[in-house]
Amino acid sequence: ETMINQIAAGEVIERPASVVKELVENALDAGASKVEVVTSGGGLNLIRVTDDGFGIPEQELALAIARHCTSKLTEDINDIRSLGFRGEALPSIGSVSRLSIRSRTASGDSAAEIGIEGGRVLPVRPAAANRGTTVEVRDLFFATPARLKFMKGERAESSAISDIVKRIAIAFPTVRFTMAGSDRTTLELPATEDSADGSLRRVAQVMGADFPDNSIAIDAMREGVHLTGHVSIPSFTRANALQQYAYVNGRPVRDKLIAGAIRGAFADVLPRDRHAVTVLFLSLDPAIVDVNVHPAKADVRFRDPGLVRGLIVGAIRQALADAGI
Ligand code: ADP
Ligand code: MG
Repeated sequence: ETMINQIAAGEVIERPASVVKELVENALDAGASKVEVVTSGGGLNLIRVTDDGFGIPEQELALAIARHCTSKLTEDINDIRSLGFRGEALPSIGSVSRLSIRSRTASGDSAAEIGIEGGRVLPVRPAAANRGTTVEVRDLFFATPARLKFMKGERAESSAISDIVKRIAIAFPTVRFTMAGSDRTTLELPATEDSADGSLRRVAQVMGADFPDNSIAIDAMREGVHLTGHVSIPSFTRANALQQYAYVNGRPVRDKLIAGAIRGAFADVLPRDRHAVTVLFLSLDPAIVDVNVHPAKADVRFRDPGLVRGLIVGAIRQALADAGI
C-alpha cells in the first residue's frame, strides 16, 4: 500500500510546488477565505498550509489520508466543481514525507490531529487550533531519496512555489493568500471584492500595479466557448512567458495550444524574444474539454482545438486592432 502511494506520488508530486498546489486546492475546496503558505528550504524541509475552511471532523481524519478517499466526487465526472476529486494527494504526499493534518470544524469544540510518516499512519490525537485546517509536510521525499536528488535547490523550488500560488490566486480573487519562505520570498495578496474590478485588482497584485493601465480587456465568444481576461499592450512585455496565466473553467492550466495561440496573436506586434503578459479565462461545457489528462491536472485536451485556438488568436488580434495597435 505504501509502495502504491509512492508510485502515485511519483506521478502527482514532482516537486515541492506540486505539494503546495494540492494543499492550496484542498483549502479552496474547503471554502477557505484565507490561505497561508509557509515554507522552508524551498519546501523540502517544510511546507505548511493553513486555511479557515470548513475543516475535517475528527472521525474523518483517517479517511483523508486513505487512498482514493475523497469527499468530493459527484456521480458525474464531467461535472467536477471542486479542484480535487481523486483522493490521491494526501496519501501520496504522506507516503514520501512526514505529514500532519490538524483540523477543527465549525461544530467541533476541539481540534484533532493525525500524522503519516513515509506511509506509516500515526494515531489521531487531540490538538489545539482555530476553525480550519493546517497541513504540515516535513522532509519531503525523505522516503524516496532518488527523487530528492532531482530537486533544483532552494531558490528554484521557492520560485516554483510562488508561481503556483500566484497562478491559483488569480482564479480566486476573493480569497486572501499569504506566503512566506525561509529564503525571504514573501507574497501578500489581500482579498478583493467579487467583481470584474476585484478580479483585475488581483491580477494587478500579481502582475504589478501598472498592469491594468497597460493592458486591454478580452471578451469574446465562439460556439459556446467564452474567453475573458486581459493582455498587455506591446510596450509591456517580458523576456519569458512566465506571466502568462491561463484557466479552463477556473482551473489553472499550462497548455501548449493556448501558449501557441498567444504567440500567434502577438506575432506581428512583438519581437520574437519578447512575451506579452496575459491572463485568459476560458469557460466552456466541461463535456468538450478533458482536464483529466494527467493527475497533476495542469494539462487539458480540447475536443475542438482549432476552435479554441481561433477564438484566442481572433479575440486578441481584434482587441489589439480596436485599441489601434
Ligand atoms: P481530493 O482533494 O482529491 O478529495 P486529497 O487527498 O487532496 O483528495 O484530500 C482527501 C480528502 O481530505 C478531501 O476529499 C477532503 O475531504 C479532505 N481534506 C483535505 N484537505 C482539506 C482541507 N484543507 N479542508 C477540509 N478538508 C480537507
Ligand atoms: Mg485534493
